[in-house]
Amino acid sequence: MAHQPLWMDSDLAALQDMARGFFVKECAPREEEWAQQQFVDRHTWRRAGEQGLLCLSIPEQYGGGGGSFAHEAVVAQAQAHSLTPSIGIGVHSVIVAHYILAYGTEDQKHTWLPRMASGEVIGAVAMTEPGTGSDLQAIKTRAVVDGDDYVIDGAKTFISNGFNADIVLTVCQTDKSAGARGFSLIIVETDREGFSRGRNLKKMGLHGQDTCELSFSGVRVPRANLLGAAEGQGFAQLMQQLPQERLILGVSAVATMEKAVELTVAYTKERKACGTDVAAAWHRGSASGGGCAGRPAAQYRPWRVCGRDRLRAGQSVVPSET
Ligand SMILES: Cc1cc2nc3c(=O)[nH]c(=O)nc-3n(C[C@H](O)[C@H](O)[C@H](O)COP(=O)(O)OP(=O)(O)OC[C@H]3O[C@@H](n4cnc5c(N)ncnc54)[C@H](O)[C@@H]3O)c2cc1C
Repeated sequence: MAHQPLWMDSDLAALQDMARGFFVKECAPREEEWAQQQFVDRHTWRRAGEQGLLCLSIPEQYGGGGGSFAHEAVVAQAQAHSLTPSIGIGVHSVIVAHYILAYGTEDQKHTWLPRMASGEVIGAVAMTEPGTGSDLQAIKTRAVVDGDDYVIDGAKTFISNGFNADIVLTVCQTDKSAGARGFSLIIVETDREGFSRGRNLKKMGLHGQDTCELSFSGVRVPRANLLGAAEGQGFAQLMQQLPQERLILGVSAVATMEKAVELTVAYTKERKACGTDVAAAWHRGSASGGGCAGRPAAQYRPWRVCGRDRLRAGQSVVPSET
């Protein structure tokens, strides 16, 4: 059983149970299919919305759950513990929705947040470009004012939810001469002319989560799509929001590690080697060697015990099937 944090209460525990039910019943059976196609189907996003699992920390007046970061955290934990990483709820609810909540106009909030909470609209945020990742000041995607519109040209890559996204919060250079104050976030609807998606990228893991290349070729959006009261606030907005992004990634990472330990312990208890289960051999090796099971070398102890026993019995330590 995973460790429960001190801030967990009965309401959060009930939400976590409900979320786990959704992930186990509606996502786990489809993970293999999503890994093959490299994205989650939209129906499942709508189902997550119907279950109230999207935008939990967005106020109810904008269609959200009216909860806090803790509500998002227990959903992220339930998702990790259920081994269903594909649906990009963290990016959608904890990152994209919060940019709109924090900096959007009332019109933007009412237009996008209720539809994000229902799963009708899927959100992404696009900073990274083919030529720059960590060094965001090197972003080249440009937004140039033309009448009442911005005209956006550039390319983004590694964009989570990029294949499914209906709106992309796009980091653009709006004033080349203004340094860090020359960047702005602009809401780009993905049905705009000139917007296109490139490859949905293959990754080492998270195969079912869409991570996409995006292209902007003369994409025209109204100036009203700017996020924030004035141009040039993009970097400050990113700096304010990135800690919450890192926090939800950390919650997911810790929950994933908890699950990995749980599965490993269960496996070592059932797996037999040299007449005993691996967990027992491991314990015997750790205890007799006086070492700490947390040390990297400890992982070899079962095999050392096994080899020692075979040598004492006059048997080869080379596996016979090779
Ligand atoms: C699965 C996945 C999902 C992603 N989702 C999104 C998304 O939704 N939106 C988005 O905008 N981006 C996304 N990214 C991109 C991610 O934010 C970038 O990968 C990250 O910013 C690093 O950029 P980079 O990969 O270009 O690495 P680089 O910037 O090229 O860095 C390469 C390495 O060099 C190191 N390094 C860089 N600069 C320095 C320095 N000055 N001194 C010392 N070391 C340095 C880095 O730490 C890193 O280890 C995603 C990436 C992945 C893998």
